[in-house]
Amino acid sequence: MSEENKVEDVIIIGSGPAGLTAAIYAARANLNPLVIEGYTAGGQLMWTTEVENFPGFPEGKMGPDLMVDFRAQAEKFGTRFITEDVTMVDFKQSPFLVEVDDKTFRAKSVIVSTGATAKLLNIESERRMMGHGVSTCATCDGAFFKNKIICVVGGGDSALEEAVFLTRFASKVYLIHRRDKLRASKIMQDKAFKNEKIEFIWDSEITEVFGDKKVDSIMLRNLKTDVHTKLVLDGVFVAIGHTPNAKLFEGQLDFDHQGYLHTAQKGSKTNIEGIFACGDVQDHVYRQAITAAGSGCMAAIDAERYLESIPDDAE
Ligand code: NAP
Repeated sequence: MSEENKVEDVIIIGSGPAGLTAAIYAARANLNPLVIEGYTAGGQLMWTTEVENFPGFPEGKMGPDLMVDFRAQAEKFGTRFITEDVTMVDFKQSPFLVEVDDKTFRAKSVIVSTGATAKLLNIESERRMMGHGVSTCATCDGAFFKNKIICVVGGGDSALEEAVFLTRFASKVYLIHRRDKLRASKIMQDKAFKNEKIEFIWDSEITEVFGDKKVDSIMLRNLKTDVHTKLVLDGVFVAIGHTPNAKLFEGQLDFDHQGYLHTAQKGSKTNIEGIFACGDVQDHVYRQAITAAGSGCMAAIDAERYLESIPDDAE
């Protein structure tokens, strides 16, 4: 039977901690999972430095290294990988259809673990200067800003973590937040407040990023006073949260009010029997690698039980 005519037991879409944990569990349950890992495989930990809170690594572990290990563990038990992006799904027919560019796969069950993507400020000059001094990834681009002046936008854990990390390279880091209170955890706040290279700019937003081939300054607006101030700097790191990667499933799966996939309160079941969701695409509360991995395990167990419950020849 050709790969395309075969009906897979389970297809896993996405390859972050959730998808790869689902793959490890599904593979060990002899479900021979097929992971469509995407061109930018590995999820958000690929853009992280040291992960200090993943249990089992008292010395910490680099995010990309952790994902290499996740993948190797899934592969060891027989997981197959397709390094392409899914372009279309049809969950309205059974078996379910999952398409990549030029191939269609069929499956009795699907685990969706497509994660989330960094949000942008949505100003025209931000898009124009992306990769020319504007970045959403401190880990990837921090080293380009040795002895430079940069800013980080946001008031959550990500923004503060990135600001602290970027002080390894930059001579000065402005932390620009739209309110006068941070959302970040107390421990992150303490770290950032203690860092002499970080200067906080409160109640402010960026209205424009200036520069020809690379960023040379920004325009700030104080949201309380409406005063505009130009700030000379070399780089802008945007760290204002994430959007779930769920567009592919519009019209087929149920969403919650924040645009994340809706799953049953206990477990990973979506509104369609046989389709499961795990990780950041369905979790806007915890969003941690460990919770994503845990929910991936749940999704694989849910898929395994679902497959046991349907007739062997079910298509
Ligand atoms: P977040 O907690 O949602 O924070 C987003 C921040 O960006 C908020 O301060 C928000 O301002 C600001 N913001 C949102 N939209 C904006 C806009 N259009 N313009 C300007 N500012 C904007 O997101 P996150 O920091 O990425 O964290 C996500 C989750 O991951 C959290 O649960 C966090 O605890 C966790 N996390 C944990 C760690 C760690 O433990 N090491 C590291 C990173 C992230 P407001 O405060 O005004 O809403």
